[in-house]
Amino acid sequence: MKLSSAFRGSDLARNIAENIKKATRRRWNLMEFCGTHTVAIFRHGLRSMLPAGLNLVSGPGCPVCVTSRRDIDRILHLAGMPGVVTATYGDMMKVPGSGMSLAEKRARGADVRVVYSITDALEIARANPSARVIFVAVGFETTAPSTAAVIRAAALEGVDNFHVLSLHKVTPPVVGALIEGGTEVDGFICPGHVCSIIGSRPLEPIARDYGKPCVIAGFEPADVLQAILMLVRQLEDGRSEVEIEYTRGVRPEGNPNALAAMNEVFRKVTAEWRGIGEVEATGLKLRDEFASFDAERLIDREIVSEPDPPGCRCGEVLRGELAPTGCALFGAACTPENPVGPCMVSSEGSCATYYQYVGRQRT
Ligand code: SF4
Repeated sequence: MKLSSAFRGSDLARNIAENIKKATRRRWNLMEFCGTHTVAIFRHGLRSMLPAGLNLVSGPGCPVCVTSRRDIDRILHLAGMPGVVTATYGDMMKVPGSGMSLAEKRARGADVRVVYSITDALEIARANPSARVIFVAVGFETTAPSTAAVIRAAALEGVDNFHVLSLHKVTPPVVGALIEGGTEVDGFICPGHVCSIIGSRPLEPIARDYGKPCVIAGFEPADVLQAILMLVRQLEDGRSEVEIEYTRGVRPEGNPNALAAMNEVFRKVTAEWRGIGEVEATGLKLRDEFASFDAERLIDREIVSEPDPPGCRCGEVLRGELAPTGCALFGAACTPENPVGPCMVSSEGSCATYYQYVGRQRT
């Protein structure tokens, strides 16, 4: 039996849920930071297993959703340049920019290709030496090491028509920004895949300085329930610590090789998060040694973006201040087929997840 299959047993999930009910004496708001957790919670009906006083709030942990409108417009500007091939993940295609989406840009003649990894983008560059190939790097710490490794490989190989627009983001400081911004959350379910790279230590300021417990969770239903139980026990005991539920994947120090690759290629800069604003030391920009691969250097004018469409409340959704169903456009003017905001586009966006699952359980 594979290790993860032991976590799928419904008896195990029911037992943990029973323990959560016994442990919960007060009302608590818990945020699942990560969109993968939001999907797991809805797919497995975990909300219906929790006591009434326990409220789960979805957070900003969807990299596509938190990419700012200005950054989307910068991608569109690059995609419109002559001789450019834009390589991107499928989730980015329908995200609306100020005038259009990448899908619309492609329909108007731009060479935009959907890839499954940055390696595919490098391959396109090798096969098309007369084109400039720009990979749109969107993701948290989980994918940044692969981006770094491929940039390093391209440098060694001397592929000079390959560029990366790095929109990678670092997550722990934005949790602090949410708390300082007034989001009312008592504790955080933190992403196991991100923490398998960064470890648990970067979350310590959240528990120590803000008094908000954090539990790093895997993605099986029992993982998520166990993390909720650990958070409730901390809160009811008056403790605020960083605990690892996902011990089979996360070590306190993280993955040293992945961190070394990231640090070699990237430096931390201030980044703009949709709905949250600029947060110091949360962006990853290519270091000067790799500047020739930096697609930012190809942007030849100031990009001015229009505000979000009237009625779109993605900002509040991303800050955990509004459930997607609280947006008047949800399911009416805004659907996965015709998304108004990015939270309805990405498969891990809160609005898309609610759209798929809401009605099957209480929210
Ligand atoms: S339902 Fe659509 S318009 Fe409303 S917040 Fe979500 S993505 Fe934005």
